[in-house]
Amino acid sequence: MASKDNEKLPQNDDKDKQSSSSSEKREQELPESDSLMDKIAHFFSDKLHLSSAAEDDEDEGGHVLQSATISALIDAWKRGCFKKIVTMVGAGISTSSGIPDFRSKNSGLYANLSKYNLPYPEAIFEINYFRENPQPFFKLAKELYPGSFKPTPSHYFIKLLQDKGLLLRHYTQNIDTLERIAGIDEEKLVEAHGTFYKHHCIDCQEEYSMEWAKEEIFKDNVPTCTNCNGVVKPDIVFFGENLPEPFYVLPHRDFKQCDLLIIMGTSLTVQPFASLIDFVSDSCVRLLINREKVGKNSGGGFLRSMIFGEGLCFDLPGNRRDVAYEGDCDDGCLYLADQLGFGDELRDLVKKEHERIDIELGKIKRKVSTDDQSKDSSDEKPEEEQTKEKLLKNNENSSKNDVKSSI
Ligand SMILES: [Zn+2]
Repeated sequence: MASKDNEKLPQNDDKDKQSSSSSEKREQELPESDSLMDKIAHFFSDKLHLSSAAEDDEDEGGHVLQSATISALIDAWKRGCFKKIVTMVGAGISTSSGIPDFRSKNSGLYANLSKYNLPYPEAIFEINYFRENPQPFFKLAKELYPGSFKPTPSHYFIKLLQDKGLLLRHYTQNIDTLERIAGIDEEKLVEAHGTFYKHHCIDCQEEYSMEWAKEEIFKDNVPTCTNCNGVVKPDIVFFGENLPEPFYVLPHRDFKQCDLLIIMGTSLTVQPFASLIDFVSDSCVRLLINREKVGKNSGGGFLRSMIFGEGLCFDLPGNRRDVAYEGDCDDGCLYLADQLGFGDELRDLVKKEHERIDIELGKIKRKVSTDDQSKDSSDEKPEEEQTKEKLLKNNENSSKNDVKSSI
């Protein structure tokens, strides 16, 4: 989903979900609501020093970095300049976990969809089509369920930022739930395109567990609400649906305070997610860790970038805050961690957590095969049951999400 084009993205003006008060709030705080006039006013207010005392403080001294280089950024980090870090990520932080890139033509996903007799391939992820004909989506979900994925060093890097009290918020386009598996707290997390972690009835909004939904899907049933017979759908955002509420509420708060924005593994082409990079203050340092420089201000050059605050300014004259690390996300995170003195801590965490996950997955596999042999023996030990639930949840989430996130 994350890879869909802008115009297909879920719109904020869907009627279903929100109460009138929350929709009012949403309108006020909607990232896209900044009008051109607001931007111009903001620009002149900044340039003429008309901004508030707090903003002046924030901008006082101008640039945090001596130069727009990774080494200058690391120096600033060591000086304690970054205490409110926001991370923004896309599918690129999950690829090293083995999650296939379904966007790639070679993955064959869209080719395989032909057997579902869809009017067009994207229909499988469109809410209106889903309401009429949910079977293809659930058939696909069943096909894509197997497989277990472990969070990558990039995920654990973010977890360490959280543990060190530096993470203000993590915004992800991925629906693979690897952040949750890595231990990033729910309140630190904005899953901008939803998650497989939870399921809801599309009509009465009753919540259902992933375990229950998976069981239904594997029995080739369309998961159906026990209250109202509505279809129960994972909370991933389909085309034609709203993004989750926190996406409309939190950026306004977070990005103003943010002193370092780390953008990883995203092409920054999907709106409104990509536009978040422009919500930070002028003094906020922005670090892109990606195979290529993306999100660059295009078209208008420096003046346009200055006035409208659009895009990253890596190669523009006078840039003192946008830094690019061109390479894989994991390499970039390990490099940063090494330079900042917690590389070994990061490697140890990855090793320990991956071992733990392997053990739990092994237990589940054994448990599932035992269950298969002796069906209906529901006297499982509580501890095993818990582990199983947790892992099945994680697995499902990760495999589904992965699939979805890369679509
Ligand atoms: Zn219902």
